[in-house]
Amino acid sequence: MYEHWNKLTKYPKEKIQALQNKKLKSFIRHFVPYSPYYRELFKKSDLSPADIITTDDLVKLPFTSKADLAPTEEDRARPRQFILQPDEKLIKKYATKGQLLKIAWSKITGQDVQRKLEWEFKPVHTHFTTGRSALPTAFTYSAYDLEIMKESGDRMFGVINVDRSLVAINGFPYSPHLAFWLAHYALVKLGITSLQTGGGKVMGTQKIMDAIEGLKAGIIIFIPGYCYHVLREAVKEQRDFSNVKHVIFGGERVSPGHREKVKELLKKLGAQDSSIYTTYAMTEGKTAWIQCCEESGYHLYPDLEYFEVVNKEGKRVPEGEPGELVYSALDWRGSIVLRYRTGDMTQGIEYQPCPYCGRTVPRIRPDIQRTSEIKEFNLTKVKGELVNLNNFFPLLSGIKELEEWQVTIQKKDNDPYEVDELICEVAVKPYVDFEQFKTRLERMIYGDVGVAVAVRQCDLDTLLSKVGMETELKDKRIIDARPK
Ligand SMILES: [Zn+2]
Repeated sequence: MYEHWNKLTKYPKEKIQALQNKKLKSFIRHFVPYSPYYRELFKKSDLSPADIITTDDLVKLPFTSKADLAPTEEDRARPRQFILQPDEKLIKKYATKGQLLKIAWSKITGQDVQRKLEWEFKPVHTHFTTGRSALPTAFTYSAYDLEIMKESGDRMFGVINVDRSLVAINGFPYSPHLAFWLAHYALVKLGITSLQTGGGKVMGTQKIMDAIEGLKAGIIIFIPGYCYHVLREAVKEQRDFSNVKHVIFGGERVSPGHREKVKELLKKLGAQDSSIYTTYAMTEGKTAWIQCCEESGYHLYPDLEYFEVVNKEGKRVPEGEPGELVYSALDWRGSIVLRYRTGDMTQGIEYQPCPYCGRTVPRIRPDIQRTSEIKEFNLTKVKGELVNLNNFFPLLSGIKELEEWQVTIQKKDNDPYEVDELICEVAVKPYVDFEQFKTRLERMIYGDVGVAVAVRQCDLDTLLSKVGMETELKDKRIIDARPK
């Protein structure tokens, strides 16, 4: 199933590579053929499982992309093709001798074989990807997977040396998404006293603040944008959050500027020695990876997955070089993907032991550019040019003078035949001279995002309700208001 984490994190590089080869070989031979999609892909590519012996051989296999996975109007059941679905015939063909013997033995001794197979393979839990243009894609977990998810959650908290006696507040929005459930399962596995708030839409910011203060929470887990909102409200009400030690972020990229703004608020709330930890995750990866400190990079689980980095042409780059992250599962059931193009760009993967914690597992360098979101809904043609709207997030959330922001793309005068225009509404801090700031901000946006934007002032409460801080699962930062 999985390695002993404390041992795994001390393995030398060669031993980790050998382990990954062994796991990949077995996964490809004995599990991947249970997925209708990959059975077909191997056939189409004229590959047999024997062609893939090491992780280097993976390059023979075509990539899987979001488009392969996503359901279409014609074929809504497409994601099911990625679920491992063994039946008697397939088991006879692909199971190991050991597995077959075990099944035979279970039958002889009158054990419930069906139940055991269901435990390992039957989907019992589902997440959806958050894509906005494609139909939601289901990604499933079996009971076996849930054990692995708990284990990986345990690992995450271990990497940041969490004190289990602290109380945790899970502030992720309640929904069938990875963030909420991973946090939930991790906290349960670790035996940490915790409250699953469901986020602002479910429990409301007032009650979440009451909980952090009243339970003297030491661990708070949030989407960065919403966390900033909660902390700002708490400062306004002069709350005492002095027990907060660990702030764990997920769901969005965190810019250094945003991190500074959050730290400043935490200090005002009495949390003097708190640390902020960021995570990297994707639905198809079924778990998340965390940094042990700000610069460490994301610590991977080499017994559960294999990451490679490829260039624009799809060629694997040498170790440590930048490119796009490509993910392959090594030990999951339910839905699985191999050579999945994440669309996320990395500066490279580090294979040397972590200089901060000494763990030897590979690490994805900290600055990950998430182009996957762009592909789905942010690579928008404004005035006929492709604009990476994702660049608004790190830029605007990191600016000191700004409280909140929202960008709207609209047609001039609401006329469908007119040109596109971008409006950026901002709520500024009270000390800011808006007129001066506006010119500076417009220039900054032009420099960073490469598009002219009209900046308009908005009061904080109005903007908060436009962003949907208390009413939406995820804050609405970019609105495309153009007629379709
Ligand atoms: Zn580390």
